Amino acid sequence: GEALAVSARVAPLGSRLVLLLVEDLTEARRIEAVRRDFVANVSHELKTPVGALSLLSEAVMDASDDPEAVTRFAGRMQIEATRLTSLVQELIDLSRVQNDDPLEDSEPVRVDELVAEAIDRSRHTASTKQITMQAGGTSGLHVWGNRGQLAAALGNLVENAVNYSPARTKVGIAARRVPAPGGDLIEIAVTDQGIGISERDRDRVFERFYRVDPARSRATGGTGLGLSIVKHVAASHGGEVTVWSSEGQGSTFTLRLPEAGSVREARVEHTPGR
Ligand code: ADP
Repeated sequence: GEALAVSARVAPLGSRLVLLLVEDLTEARRIEAVRRDFVANVSHELKTPVGALSLLSEAVMDASDDPEAVTRFAGRMQIEATRLTSLVQELIDLSRVQNDDPLEDSEPVRVDELVAEAIDRSRHTASTKQITMQAGGTSGLHVWGNRGQLAAALGNLVENAVNYSPARTKVGIAARRVPAPGGDLIEIAVTDQGIGISERDRDRVFERFYRVDPARSRATGGTGLGLSIVKHVAASHGGEVTVWSSEGQGSTFTLRLPEAGSVREARVEHTPGR
């Protein structure tokens, strides 16, 4: 009875591993293509804020006897610096997703730490816009995965929530354990009260370089890669990311990932004698 129960649990994991490996080959090629496009794109995108910063600093020097102008230029310098930071962050995310293999580099990762890190990453933008970020239900939960990649994924969702929301709104991050046939899942939902996403765009936002409003997204340093990274990370961890949204009212992005306890148990059963 027990052997049967074990093989019934391992079989789906086994086929999932094979699927992931097959998927990984095409994924590797896809990621390589993304990287090439991205480097071309980002070199161009980096020039804009750097050029602007250079011009603005000259303007500040010329306007040293006009405090009002100095303040105005400094404000614009801050916007360009934020954009630069966000582009560099996206480079870091991409290299994390590219360089580690979640099948090999996985470990139990504390959800409260992931959430704290994601909040930290958007703290500056949130405080400028007086957006409150609030997390709940995270304590005691662990997901199974690659820490850097998971941080990149959640960091992107929180960053988007803050970027695509008006001032003085709230961003909520709620975590919980959800029972599932193949082992418990951890669900992390990021909810904003922002501009929302139309039904027409809802599936497309996960495509690389897709942006609903390129002008707006460029102003926040977006390249349209964030959600494609989130989707890739979710899939390569045996999880998923879904979106619910109501235009003009807000969005909820939900990340579902294998719970650390259930995966580790199945792994041990799967590799006897190792
Ligand atoms: P970007 O770098 O442009 O933010 P993403 O891949 O992260 O790229 O997102 C793709 C597009 O999806 C964004 O340009 C934006 O139009 C839309 N989007 C993402 N998150 C949200 C959100 N929380 N609310 C509204 N729109 C969003």
